[in-house]
Amino acid sequence: MDSHCASPHPSTPSMDFKIASLTPPPKTVNTEPHSTSLTHRSVSSSQYFQILTKEDHHHDSICPIPPSPPHVDGYSSDMSLSVSEVIGKANDGISTRLEHGDIRPNFNRNADPCTATGCKWRKRGTKVYVPIYIARSYSSAERNIIIRGLLTFHASTCIRFVWRRFQRNYLYFYSGSGCWSYLGRQRRGQAVSLQKNGCLYQDTVQHEVLHALGFHHEQVRSDRDTYISILTQNIQSGLERQFEKVATNNLDTPYDFDSVMHYSNYAFSKNGQPTIVSKSDPNMRFGYATTMSANDIERINTLYQCCE
Ligand SMILES: [Zn+2]
Repeated sequence: MDSHCASPHPSTPSMDFKIASLTPPPKTVNTEPHSTSLTHRSVSSSQYFQILTKEDHHHDSICPIPPSPPHVDGYSSDMSLSVSEVIGKANDGISTRLEHGDIRPNFNRNADPCTATGCKWRKRGTKVYVPIYIARSYSSAERNIIIRGLLTFHASTCIRFVWRRFQRNYLYFYSGSGCWSYLGRQRRGQAVSLQKNGCLYQDTVQHEVLHALGFHHEQVRSDRDTYISILTQNIQSGLERQFEKVATNNLDTPYDFDSVMHYSNYAFSKNGQPTIVSKSDPNMRFGYATTMSANDIERINTLYQCCE
């Protein structure tokens, strides 16, 4: 077992980094998401994996699963809107082709869900390094919202976002139309759209990044019919497919109404009536997670074998 997984008493992750440390290195890469990458053979490992911040030593214990990452003041979502409402609002009327509300069909045109290993980011040693590039069109405050969202993954998983230098596959954050992501690792520069004035909230960043790490929406998972009912008669016409079940890999985690990947009761409602209700408690209000749940974190750690 990896040493950072050995402690039975995980400490609360610290988030006491300084904004100054969030400034990316001056020599970032070209701005084209699909440009040809250079070989990395000429750079050392430390140059190759330049982690967003040096807070790693604060986070020695990620297994067993620690509490959810703390909120970062000022960057949590507007409490009046759920993640799915934020996404639904931002994506309303955009021409980008999306499935399930905010997922771009993948490059391989593979209808199969991203389940086992095909779309995972590769692990090197004990960490999974995911290179990123953040478009220069964001202000530094906007960049920092994205970075702070990414750092919440460092706090409780073995995912480490690194500034992209020469790596071939990476996430390219930019302000496109709406909030969306591909499902799992694709090829080369993989866009994650986080529109300014619409998608820049910690929970929305986490949600779209979880898609890019390979995770689907909670309400479409394979066993959802045991836990929820989909009220098709209340769904906006033409959006019924967004609620279609997917053969997900649930990684032995329970159905989780508190997942940041769960849509709210009224997602894509056409008449103000709920589109999703809990079978065990029809009055349950859900889909208002403001950060990753313990289950969201456990799924990452299981899929990426963070504790092995
Ligand atoms: Zn989504």
